[in-house]
Amino acid sequence: MPDITLPPELRPADGRFGSGPSKVRQQAVDRLAEVAPHLLGTSHRKPAVKDQVRRIREGLRELFALPAGYEVVLGNGGATLFWDAAAFSLIEHRSAHAVFGEFSSKFAKAVAAAPFLQPPHVMESEPGSYPAVKPVDDVDVYALTHSETSTGVAMPVVRPAFDALVAVDATSAAGGMAFDPSEADAYYFSPQKGFASEGGLWVALLSPPAIEVVARIKQSGRSIPAMLDLSIAIENSRSDQTYNTPAIATVFLMAEQIEWMLGNGGLAWSSQQCATKADHIYQWAQTSDYATPFVTDPSARSPVVCTIDLDDSVAADEVTTVLRANGVLDTEAYRKLGRNQLRFAVFPAVDPADVERLTAAVDFVVERLRA
Ligand SMILES: *Cc1c(COP(=O)(O)O)cnc(C)c1O
Repeated sequence: MPDITLPPELRPADGRFGSGPSKVRQQAVDRLAEVAPHLLGTSHRKPAVKDQVRRIREGLRELFALPAGYEVVLGNGGATLFWDAAAFSLIEHRSAHAVFGEFSSKFAKAVAAAPFLQPPHVMESEPGSYPAVKPVDDVDVYALTHSETSTGVAMPVVRPAFDALVAVDATSAAGGMAFDPSEADAYYFSPQKGFASEGGLWVALLSPPAIEVVARIKQSGRSIPAMLDLSIAIENSRSDQTYNTPAIATVFLMAEQIEWMLGNGGLAWSSQQCATKADHIYQWAQTSDYATPFVTDPSARSPVVCTIDLDDSVAADEVTTVLRANGVLDTEAYRKLGRNQLRFAVFPAVDPADVERLTAAVDFVVERLRA
């Protein structure tokens, strides 16, 4: 490996630019250490932990300005589990999926494997774009992905039809992209991306029609494993609990991050701040002689996960290796995409000054690698 050392002024104060797990703010970790003796290792059925779940539920209600009747529901297993829960508990007959990367395709596959559902309708586009989502007959759930983390493509959250539910995978978008919550019935995510916490949990903002559908499927007598039964998750969430034991540190760190965002100006602030950081990266790539934004349509570029192609004069692997040796972590592209690419997450916790150092650091490294 080439021996390249970043000068101190080009070293981000915090080198975590991963797309998930992502940077956890040290202040939140310090707070966790302070409260740990009375919180970690205590019962999740007692007020100390239930208060933390309530902080998440009330904080998200405020952050997303949820319309009346929407509920914040959570459980264990992350967004990946939520796909299976949706297959069992949210889709009545058939879903339609916008597929434009690894995560959106995984949800469609989970649904395709459910023997009690019709095969899903798939609307697919090439990586680097998102497909047009048109109304489809006999579909009761549309599956969108607000920010496709594998490709750095963002799509608008807009109802394709009014006679079906809209489920939105917002795992990397949530907290970093403003949207109208009334356009979605299940806006779901994990906390280790925009919410600067650890993995293991899923959170969903459910609309009244979504809650009704969950109850109707349950009453229909479909056999649903308890972990995938959203009616059980809804019931537990209403009393600020999860069905089984959560990671309490995950819950606490997420609650801290939500309140930090609210204290800074809420979703309007965090989405603006992410857009500004992402703009810096896209502008830098556009003016660079070796880098270009992977997503050609500027309006489809994710403001939280930036994918940047490099030309043949420099190997992305070498860049990421040198960056890693200098403490700048997880800038690798999504491997299955197979491109000569860098990927930088600029979630709300990432300091704007560090993003500026990051692009300068990449220039410094590339200049030396090409010398
Ligand atoms: C990370 C990610 C997931 C998977 O989240 P897990 O918590 O690992 O289950 C799903 N969808 C998107 C868009 C993601 O970015």
